[in-house]
Amino acid sequence: MYPILITDKHTCCGCTACASICTHNAISMVSDELGFMFPLVDEAKCVGCGLCVNVCSFNTTYDTRLNLPQPDSYAVRHKDIDEIQASQSGAAFVLFSDWVLENGGVVYGVGYEGHFHVTHKRALNKEQRDEFRGSKYVQSDLRGVFKQVRQDLNEGRMVCFSGTPCQTAGLSSFVGPHLRNKLYLIDIVCHGVPSPKMWEDYITYLEVKEKKNITSVNFRDKKIKGWKSHIESFVFNNTHTYGCTYTHMFYSHINLRHSCSTCHYCNTKRPSDVTIADFWDIGKISETFASDNKGCSLVLVNTLKGEEWFNAIERKAEILPTRLQDSLQAQLCYPNPQHSQRDVFEKDYIRLGFKKTLEKWEFIGWRKGVRKYWGYPFRLIKRIIRKYI
Ligand SMILES: Cc1cc2nc3c(=O)[nH]c(=O)nc-3n(C[C@H](O)[C@H](O)[C@H](O)COP(=O)(O)OP(=O)(O)OC[C@H]3O[C@@H](n4cnc5c(N)ncnc54)[C@H](O)[C@@H]3O)c2cc1C
Ligand code: SF4
Ligand code: SF4
Ligand code: SF4
Repeated sequence: MYPILITDKHTCCGCTACASICTHNAISMVSDELGFMFPLVDEAKCVGCGLCVNVCSFNTTYDTRLNLPQPDSYAVRHKDIDEIQASQSGAAFVLFSDWVLENGGVVYGVGYEGHFHVTHKRALNKEQRDEFRGSKYVQSDLRGVFKQVRQDLNEGRMVCFSGTPCQTAGLSSFVGPHLRNKLYLIDIVCHGVPSPKMWEDYITYLEVKEKKNITSVNFRDKKIKGWKSHIESFVFNNTHTYGCTYTHMFYSHINLRHSCSTCHYCNTKRPSDVTIADFWDIGKISETFASDNKGCSLVLVNTLKGEEWFNAIERKAEILPTRLQDSLQAQLCYPNPQHSQRDVFEKDYIRLGFKKTLEKWEFIGWRKGVRKYWGYPFRLIKRIIRKYI
């Protein structure tokens, strides 16, 4: 039974809890061809203690002992419109993390290292924390982070950690119940995480195409057509380009981690104190709340600690209590299905590389152009035939 062994990629979300807990440094997180991390055990160092197997919480028995019978649900917006503009949804993350920083704590969230390598980082103040604003639609690199969080907690610091639910579940299991008290967990409602390798290859592809270096990226730039749109933007020194290639791949599910299609957290039993998301259906609940299309957060309060935390942020927020059943979205009910051709796509990617694979699969190149511009007349004719014949 020991040590941990991954024979089916669907069974591992890459949270790093097993590698972090091994006191014999027998586990390394090793990247597959798409940049997703998996544990690899050095049998020579392993003593068969079983800690790695026991800490793994990517299963149906993850810890929900602190959860309320059902979460309280709210639509939330920061009162400062500049914070909303700089954040992905309604800046709920800023509200929660501000409170931790103002009370002497540290905040962990997702930013960049080097040339847009998406990674978890530690912030001691609001300036450092601001880099975490905005969704980075890539699986973040967590190597070394869980141990750093545990060290902060052991030294008596309050810690806010934000991430995907599989990351917060893994961290919670790793630190254990005795340190959980000072750990404030925020998870996002999660569509799934795309491949880090494809993201970095995409950056290189754009830079070669434009013959310039990218200096800034925004996975979902609200400034172009508002919060509800999904437009990527890139800055090359002083010029901007906009696109949707990466977005199309993301929503096709072709480049997501295998475990995302078997995710255990796509429900309302969340492995965190609070959950944040886009409140897509806010317009059905209120005609006036967030009607400016600048952003609105859904906040689920999952634990008693989450409730106290939520009360502490209230004065800086506009809040509308909602019914849980009106606040749900697909990712709170079931995992996204895997793309039927995902593994074929991956094999092509390994064989052909980024550009040729994306051309073959019509995400870029002339075939995509033909489909986009000539597809419409054919679809129109089909619709007319279907209607009148
Ligand atoms: C991969 C991914 C999938 C998502 N899927 C959905 C979805 O299906 N439905 C939905 O309603 N919302 C989804 N979201 C969440 C949504 O896009 C917003 O991030 C969320 O509403 C927070 O907005 P905010 O304004 O409160 O936070 P902001 O101020 O914009 O802060 C962003 C927060 O997201 C965290 N974050 C950013 N990138 C990552 C990452 N790669 N991995 C883990 N955490 C990250 C940051 O640490 C920070 O806490 C997803 C986000 C990501 C990153
Ligand atoms: S069984 Fe123990 S020693 Fe072996 S890899 Fe797992 S945690 Fe490390
Ligand atoms: S889900 Fe996390 S703890 Fe479990 S095997 Fe994968 S990396 Fe290790
Ligand atoms: S969908 Fe589930 S497994 Fe995939 S990143 Fe999100 S929480 Fe983790």
